Amino acid sequence: MQEVKKPKKPLIFYYVVAMLVLLLFNFLAMPWLAQRRIQEVDYGTFMSMTKEGNIGQVEVQEQENQILFTDKEYQHIYKTGMMPDPELTQRLYDSGASFTGEIIKQADPILSFLLSWILPIVIFILIGQYISRRLTRNAGGPNAMMFGMGKSNAKVYVKSSEGIRFSDVAGEDEAKENLSEIVDYLHNPDKYKKIGASMPKGILLVGPPGTGKTMLAKAVAGEAGVPFFSMSGSEFVEMFVGMGASKVRDLFKQAKEKAPCIVFIDEIDAIGQKRDGRAGGNDEREQTLNQLLTEMDGFEENTGVMILAATNRPESLDPALTRPGRFDRRVPVELPDLQGREAILRVHAKKVNLCDNVDFGSIARMASGASGAELANIVNEAALRAVRDNREYVTQADLEESIEVVIAGYQKKNSILTDQEKKVVAYHEIGHALVAAKQTNSAPVQKITIVPRTSGALGYTMQVDEGNHYLMSQEELENKIATLTGGRAAEELVFHSASTGASNDIEQATKLARAMITRYGMSPDFDMVTLETVTNQYLGGDASLACSAQAQAEIDKQVIALVKRQHQKAGKILEENRNKLDELAEYLYQKETITGEEFMKILNQ
Ligand code: ADP
Repeated sequence: MQEVKKPKKPLIFYYVVAMLVLLLFNFLAMPWLAQRRIQEVDYGTFMSMTKEGNIGQVEVQEQENQILFTDKEYQHIYKTGMMPDPELTQRLYDSGASFTGEIIKQADPILSFLLSWILPIVIFILIGQYISRRLTRNAGGPNAMMFGMGKSNAKVYVKSSEGIRFSDVAGEDEAKENLSEIVDYLHNPDKYKKIGASMPKGILLVGPPGTGKTMLAKAVAGEAGVPFFSMSGSEFVEMFVGMGASKVRDLFKQAKEKAPCIVFIDEIDAIGQKRDGRAGGNDEREQTLNQLLTEMDGFEENTGVMILAATNRPESLDPALTRPGRFDRRVPVELPDLQGREAILRVHAKKVNLCDNVDFGSIARMASGASGAELANIVNEAALRAVRDNREYVTQADLEESIEVVIAGYQKKNSILTDQEKKVVAYHEIGHALVAAKQTNSAPVQKITIVPRTSGALGYTMQVDEGNHYLMSQEELENKIATLTGGRAAEELVFHSASTGASNDIEQATKLARAMITRYGMSPDFDMVTLETVTNQYLGGDASLACSAQAQAEIDKQVIALVKRQHQKAGKILEENRNKLDELAEYLYQKETITGEEFMKILNQ
């Protein structure tokens, strides 16, 4: 899409230009004008004029190596070069000449008065007039007083041939279907008016970051061929109370002029947060929100202005904003599933030169949980890697490596583990994999490596989801915890000690065990009672406890017991398979990387 926003120069720009003009005049133009009236004479003439007492004023400019002087009537200015003449000063004094340093300025008193007094005043009057004209034009409201700060500065995109279309957004079929109704309405509003159906005024796109919400909004505009105004919620929030509200007014005024059109507000939670009336609240934000609510009520149905907004914190939005008549439709834009990931990879891979044997299916399976933005990044990392290796096309290996780069960071080139450390890491990772493989319900591993990464991971086990999982059973969750504890269990079994390497596993296992008890109702004592509520569904899923102190203590006890049980189970599995554990760990220690196939082969020998 093409952006047609005219850049505005800040005021300071005009002041700086004015000052520069003045300086140039004073330092260059004035001396130059004066110079033009100066007559050059030889030193002999100067000497004879001195002798005859014919000199009015004199100025010795040692730096320029010249002497300026006037005749007795101050009619002419003369200039001559300097000569070694120690008695000159005395002679000049005797001749009655007056010494001064301002001959140049006197060159033209009227001109110099004009330049140093009148010109600056004229310039500043002009700037003042310009500012007042700009202000009257911008005065969209009582608060738009300061130098056009109340302008919405929304970016306007107009339709262009290479605009984003629905076909550029891979996966997300439900969202696309939902939004294509809007496109149809924008193309053909009469069809809807005839029946008396009115379109929703606002549509809220909710989902985790990087899932293509902005892209979808642009695609709606691209498909409908209407102007697209885009602004981020945070852009409304200004230092001065009332500025944001004035920006909202301005935005809607522009939009109505351009209707039918689409207004897109990204990160709407920046202004649309619940008004909680707490002391010290953000007045500016609340005023902006109020203005937004008023504007959305203000325009009649079917004006053709469609508001799309995106957020990844829908639960924090003010209920007044999400009620019918404002943002009355909510379109979830979720993380892509396996097919979606494959489709997104294909869309982005069109832009790079690919080797024929690339298997998008397996890449998509490896990148489970990745968002659209991460997948785009994976393809780009792979292309960069190909360039680094001086190849002209991207291979499967590039894509696989770039997944690891995106998950775990780059390989650390010069981080040297001691032999013992390397051995511990090898056992730790094989511990995870072996426990996973031995529990039938756990996904098999795709790859294990003990090459340290820049993220700080000394090694990791990449598990592969064979398909889409929408439900997980209690047994699967327990197995997952057992797998997470497998690394530590292997260290304990082999080295009879614990290392710091398991901190991330511990965190994840605890989180999972806690969720099982507090949210999934998988503890017989608590039955189906919610003990924790998730506050940030799309941003990491932080949870806050909603139960009594006694229940909290009991939860902690049960979480510990659950993890302990799984830890023991993992230890037992490893003990029973000690030979394989040693064999696989030795292999990994030597090779540093082992694929899922090699792993299964050794395991099943
Ligand atoms: P959001 O607004 O949800 O945070 P964006 O729409 O800005 O995410 O997406 C960021 C980038 O991720 C896009 O520019 C695009 O390259 C890529 N992307 C995300 N989702 C998709 C998708 N479904 N299909 C193709 N590319 C996608």
